[in-house]
Amino acid sequence: MKTVADYIKTIPDFPKPGILFRDVTSVLDDAEGFKLAIDELDKLLDGVDYDIIAGVESRGFLFGAPLAYNNDKPFALVRKKGKLPRETVEESYSLEYGTATIELHKDAIKPGDKVIIIDDLIATGGTVEAAAKLVERLGGEVVKMIFLIELTDLKGREYLKNYDVASVVQYE
Ligand code: 5GP
Repeated sequence: MKTVADYIKTIPDFPKPGILFRDVTSVLDDAEGFKLAIDELDKLLDGVDYDIIAGVESRGFLFGAPLAYNNDKPFALVRKKGKLPRETVEESYSLEYGTATIELHKDAIKPGDKVIIIDDLIATGGTVEAAAKLVERLGGEVVKMIFLIELTDLKGREYLKNYDVASVVQYE
């Protein structure tokens, strides 16, 4: 029996020398791999009470939208600045070099909503922390953060110790 890890390709020196990039396009390339990934992410939500899934652009959309569909839940898009057409809240966060800004439509989350945040991968946790701040600024409660891949050496889970963090595949 194959596992999700069998479908993830590791690309050395992408996007820069010295980086080992965990590629999820190879999961989506394969119908069984894609289905298995969604099924495994779904298991992370067993017994969790939530109202909406928020996915982080862009690879968080690939896994978050099918998961929301499967569970009869709505899906909110956390996008890079300048992409969402209606009124937004925004949050900036640090990258290795410089900063990035993400946004969420103001009406995407209602006060009191229990929210799942999803991205393809957690490294330092900075991206998903910014997404959580957006949700919280709109009055939502982040009940769980889920990822297909976790890079454990980067200690995102420790950084986000106030949140419930779960992942399907872990790499050091
Ligand atoms: P963090 O903010 O946790 O340090 O970085 C996580 C973000 O960077 C995610 O949005 C993720 O898509 C992206 N990312 C960083 N490294 C990788 C990688 O090796 N593979 C993939 N697919 N995404 C990565």
